[in-house]
Amino acid sequence: MSIEVKNITKTYGKFTALKNVSLEIPDGKLVALLGPSGGGKTTLLRIIAGLEVPDKKPETDICFRGKSVLNAHVAERQIGFVFQHYALFRNMNVFNNIAFGLKVRRGKERPTSSGIKQRVMELIGLIQLDGMENRYPDQLSGGQRQRVALARALAIEPQFLLLDEPFGALDARVRQNLRRWLRKLHDEIKLTSIFVTHDQEEALELADRVVVINAGRIEQDGTPNEVFHHPKNAFVMDFLGNVNLFHGRADADRFVYEHPDTKNGTLERFFARPHEIDLRPDNPDGTCFPATVKRVQLAASVVKIELLDHNSKEIYVEIPHEEYGKFQFKVGDSVFAVPKKPIVFKEDYSI
Ligand code: ATP
Repeated sequence: MSIEVKNITKTYGKFTALKNVSLEIPDGKLVALLGPSGGGKTTLLRIIAGLEVPDKKPETDICFRGKSVLNAHVAERQIGFVFQHYALFRNMNVFNNIAFGLKVRRGKERPTSSGIKQRVMELIGLIQLDGMENRYPDQLSGGQRQRVALARALAIEPQFLLLDEPFGALDARVRQNLRRWLRKLHDEIKLTSIFVTHDQEEALELADRVVVINAGRIEQDGTPNEVFHHPKNAFVMDFLGNVNLFHGRADADRFVYEHPDTKNGTLERFFARPHEIDLRPDNPDGTCFPATVKRVQLAASVVKIELLDHNSKEIYVEIPHEEYGKFQFKVGDSVFAVPKKPIVFKEDYSI
């Protein structure tokens, strides 16, 4: 195991930012810490880096490759750090920004000038900024600056790379390009890396593993497929994409709609993603969910339909264009929704 985090608690005064968090990061993986703002992602990252100290408890430890680094200084931990705001030195060109960590090394640790030059030029190639080594940060785009920040972090040959919302300050398209680029780079260098994001798409697209953090706890830790298709609770399901909530009963493995006001025992809460709902114009056995079409968006890879239920609550449905062609529902039409694979959770999270 590359990184082991054991029973980390972090309190600030009376506020507990992390509650007994444990986590194992396998070698060579790219891991996302995903969650809403204030959940504790950055605090966890900073504790791993040694920039923040966890509460003192006997069961707490942080191990890098099996060795405790709990009391090791940040410099001893050999971590490459990339922050949201690419804090490049504005008075240094690209070459010197990347070379900085090597030039400040002392004595035998410091590579020769030609060694530094070779390493920096390799990194400039890796981040695809060949020919731009003499430019200053304000002569670069946001995406280019962030790539330089990454090269600077890699220059010191860190054991691990930690990235805190690395693309947070960039616009959507640059963000997406950089995301794909980082995934390719990771596949080439296979450096164990952890990145913080609150963007579920970014986590699902980029990471080998996604750790969902909320209110100082880990809600789920799994592959993107696991957290998306097999969420452990309603929070994870809701955070990882649009979700609809229905009330009803399970009847021989299928969903049977019942009005939440029906005095028919306790109704269960069913969750279904927009693409896991069928729409039909009729309700032959009276068990489908009645709603009215509020909006139809055709300009996308699927047809996105917004419905309103009897309580004026919105329901989001996505159906393939061919499927939509059959009934061509319009705004104001009465329709019936049938969740195909509704999920019921034991825990009662309100979403
Ligand atoms: P974001 O996505 O907004 O960065 P996050 O999940 O990274 O959120 P953290 O930055 O780890 O969250 O913060 C977790 C909680 O701890 C927040 O409620 C924050 O206000 C609190 N917190 C963080 N640092 C301190 C501090 N130095 N003093 C007091 N409270 C702090």
